This record gives sequence, C-alpha cells and structure tokens, in this order.
Amino acid sequence: MNAPQPKPWIMAIAPYVPGRSTSEGGAPVIKLSSNENPLGTSPQAVDAFAKHSADLARYPDAGAALLREAIAAHHDLDPARVIYGTGSDEVLHLIAGAYAGPGDEIIQVRYGFAVYEIATRRVGATLVIADDRDYATDVDAILAAVTERTRVVFVANPNNPTGTFTRKEEIARLHAGLPAHVMLVLDQAYAEYLAPEDDDGGLDLARTAPNVIVTRTFSKIHGLAAERIGWGYGSEDAISAMHRIRAPFCCTTAGQEAAIAALGAADFIAASREHNRKWRAWFGAEMGKLGNAGLRVVPSEANFLLVLFEGAVTAETAYKALLSRGYIVRWLPGQGLANGLRMTIGTEAETRGLAEALREIVAG
Ligand SMILES: *Cc1c(COP(=O)(O)O)cnc(C)c1O
Repeated sequence: MNAPQPKPWIMAIAPYVPGRSTSEGGAPVIKLSSNENPLGTSPQAVDAFAKHSADLARYPDAGAALLREAIAAHHDLDPARVIYGTGSDEVLHLIAGAYAGPGDEIIQVRYGFAVYEIATRRVGATLVIADDRDYATDVDAILAAVTERTRVVFVANPNNPTGTFTRKEEIARLHAGLPAHVMLVLDQAYAEYLAPEDDDGGLDLARTAPNVIVTRTFSKIHGLAAERIGWGYGSEDAISAMHRIRAPFCCTTAGQEAAIAALGAADFIAASREHNRKWRAWFGAEMGKLGNAGLRVVPSEANFLLVLFEGAVTAETAYKALLSRGYIVRWLPGQGLANGLRMTIGTEAETRGLAEALREIVAG
C-alpha cells in the first residue's frame, strides 16, 4: 500500500448521477430529468441577481443574515435557528456529519433521495432501508427499523423519486414513535407544490421538538437551482452543531439576494404551483389511459410523476425511445427503480409532446 488510501466507506459510495441534460448526438433536448421549474425564475429574483452580479470581489455574508431574516419572516420562524447551505444537499450532509459516524445507523425509505445514502456513507455510518408500501413511505416500517444505533431518519415529503406524500397525522405518528435520541429530518424540497392546507406539520414540529429538522430549497419552485441555496430549521442546539462544520461561505452574494427576492414573488410561486397541479393531473390521466399497455402512475404531490412500466414495453425501452425523440427523463435502475421513469412536469407544450411520444412508443 504505497499510495494514500481513501477510507473504505468512501470508496463504497456510488457517485451521484445527475439528470442528463444532453442527448447522445448533442441535439437539442427537452430536459425533464431534474425537477426544475419549467416557468423559470421569478422576474424579482432575476432582477435581484442581476443587480448584484458584479459584486464579485468581496466574500458574501457568511452569516447570511438578510437571507435568514427573510426566510424567518416568510415562515414565522426564529432567524437564529435557520441554517443554510450550498443547496439543501449541503444541509443534509451537515446533519449526517453532526449526528452520525462509524457504527451508527441512518434510516431512509426504499425509494429515497439519492443524497441520503451518500451523506450516510460519507461519515462512515450504515444505511438502513425501511420497506415502502406500494412506493409510498411506510411509517410502521421505519419505526420497525429503529435500533439503539439509529441516529437519523431521512424522510422526503413529498418523496423523490416517487412523488408520494405522507399526511400530517402520519408524520406526527412517526415522530411520536421515535426515541428521543433519533433526529427526524423532514426534507420538504417540494413542499411549495402542496396546497397550503396539505402542510405536513414539519415546521410546527421543528419549532418545538429538539429532534426534528426541516430542510427546504430554492432549487425547485423558486427556480434558482443554478445558485445552490437551501436551508434548514431546527433546535438551537442542532443548528449550533451544524454551524461548526459548514463551509464558511456557502452562498454567493447575488444568490442570497435572488433568494430573498424569490420569497416575495407570491404571484410567480402561485402560478408555478397552479401550472404544476393542472399539467400533472392532465399528464397522469393521459398515462392512465395507457394502463392496458402496463403503465401505472404512482400518485404524486410533487412536480414530477413516477410512471411504472409493467407491460411489454419496459421502462428502459421507453427511456431510450424518448431520448431518441429528444426527451430526457429519469430512469433510476441504480436506485432499484429499473421498472419506472420519473418525469418532471414541463411546460404545456413539453408535457403534451411527452405524452404523445409515450403513446407512440407504447403503440410500437
Ligand atoms: C432536489 C432535492 C433536494 C435539493 O436540492 P438542492 O438543489 O441541493 O437544494 C433535496 N431533497 C430532495 C428530495 C430533492 O428532490
């Protein structure tokens, strides 16, 4: 062993595979593989970003004071208990880093967000998989997986890549069933797509329970994926632990300003939610009509649909056929979903085009 050796748990990590953005031949493509906002970014956020785009020489505010205050004002939270990071991805890594290490266990659902496994293995902890219930989060399976070594439970709600949603009462039951030493992480990357009355109660729990952290992102409905800004909310102690290990300057100056402006763009947020609700329902119904060809839609509250291919045309065949027509969707065999395609709800034209392409593919 002459060369420096990475830790074995690092080499056991399968690198994250991002949604593709190019076709084989470099032809123009319609990218529906990363759950981005098809309406783009609010004009308010674009303006704020432009206004600060030449502020390059100085470090950004390491404490993100204005951003924390804007988030806190928007959600009625204590700004001192808002943590932020290079996307909520970083916040998820901070949680694993603060609470788990070799010998500890972290639980996720069978079809969970790919970053949880990376965050778990990175710190040398062991990933424990709780079985799903027909692709949805099964609270009883999670509770049954808890041991005295469990440190963190990651639950995305709505979940990615399934789109399934766990109701408030079930989230409360999950929290009530966990031992006090287990940190429950409610990843609400898609929460803004829910109708307000469908809130899962996560922020209320995080306000009072010492063992709940909620994470959110500016990458999805706010249309700021390129700027990499996410945040989390938890107890004073949890936030204090995470601050010790975060990158000192995670979020750019222009990005922080754009995020603050994005929170104020109520019309854009509402229009994005409404667009998604309308075209997700339409696309789901169109896929439902292909049921005799073995297509099955998993119920979704997010900005994408997971469609299962249980007939003669496999998900792999459909994925490749879509690619050749310029549509990039997400096929996730590495996450145990070789039988499904996750498709982001795009613009009206993209969604109609995708449905038409799938009809043709299934018809042979
Ligand atoms: C997209 C996504 C995130 C966050 O992404 P960032 O861009 O890093 O903020 C977090 N969790 C889930 C479940 C997601 O789908």
